[in-house]
Amino acid sequence: MSYLLTCPNCGKREVTDFAYGGEVVPRPKSKPSERELNTYNYFRRNVAGVQREWWNHRSGCRAWFLAERDTTTNEVKWVGLPADRDSRDGEAGATAHGAQGPGAQGIGGAGSGGVTA
Ligand SMILES: [Zn+2]
Repeated sequence: MSYLLTCPNCGKREVTDFAYGGEVVPRPKSKPSERELNTYNYFRRNVAGVQREWWNHRSGCRAWFLAERDTTTNEVKWVGLPADRDSRDGEAGATAHGAQGPGAQGIGGAGSGGVTA
């Protein structure tokens, strides 16, 4: 199903312009246990409702940004650059504390060459 997503830099575009980077998950502390690391790497909430996600404008400005999307309707409630997220954390979600871009986790990061298009 196609829908529109608004890049914070470029404006509204077809969702096919973008790469999905996954749910925003809090990063573990500096010396995580194996269980914490396993949870961080493999467990996702997969909610039916609004969740905060990473998106990459791969066919445009190539910026990573955050979106809050209702997974049942694909209605996008909010988009913002990572720098915008702290002002947003008092509102919905608030799961992004300490999160870095997916590039830092190796999902679609610079090392993968961006050949998924
Ligand atoms: Zn863009």
